[in-house]
Amino acid sequence: MLIKTLLNKCQKFKSFVYQSVELAIHKGAEVLEITVIPRKNGLAICSGCQKPSAGYDRLNIRRFEFIPIWGYRTFLLYQMRRVNCPTCGVKIEEVPWAQGKNELTKTYMQFLAFWARKMSWKEVAETFNTSWEKVFHSVEYIVDWGRKHRCLDKIKAIGVDEIAYQLGHKYLTVVYQIDRGYTRLLWIGEERTEKTIRSFFEFFTEARSKQLEFVCSDMWKPYVKVIGELAGQALHIL
Ligand SMILES: [Zn+2]
Repeated sequence: MLIKTLLNKCQKFKSFVYQSVELAIHKGAEVLEITVIPRKNGLAICSGCQKPSAGYDRLNIRRFEFIPIWGYRTFLLYQMRRVNCPTCGVKIEEVPWAQGKNELTKTYMQFLAFWARKMSWKEVAETFNTSWEKVFHSVEYIVDWGRKHRCLDKIKAIGVDEIAYQLGHKYLTVVYQIDRGYTRLLWIGEERTEKTIRSFFEFFTEARSKQLEFVCSDMWKPYVKVIGELAGQALHIL
């Protein structure tokens, strides 16, 4: 079976074709290089407005790191096109396997972020022969995605707490959803002041605050005051 066949099975991009897979030398090590080309007559997507647009020119080949295959670092190689978009002008195209200038493919970032839940970021970097920064960016990418797609509706119970760091000299305020069967971290803010907890409620919105039925916190005055003011209808459990 060809590696191309496997790629088409698990990572197919409608407007692109895997042209070739080669074992090559990159920075002194053997790596797998997978050349990707646009499908014939396929229009490039403008990165400004996400609409298909006529081509303008092509840039140098860029490499995008993919999940290692049998221990070989693996890269997609692709010559990015620029489009002449009627709305945005000359823009670089958007490709489905990567985001912006990132040199890791989305798939590889998902892979690294998955392991980063099970091991330390340092261990992930060592295990997969990459850098701590790349693991960090992968987690950041996934968290960003999750934050854009999460739903904050129908939250009935929250818990507000503080955590100390730097030997207890500094505080963070953390707010969790604590509904039965559904607990998650919603928000983190610096300090534990009235301003901090106000900015949580600002983020959470007035409409959602008014739907809260239970709020738990300790007796820290700024919390008690603002919770009473902005979610007064909820039962406040100290
Ligand atoms: Zn555009």
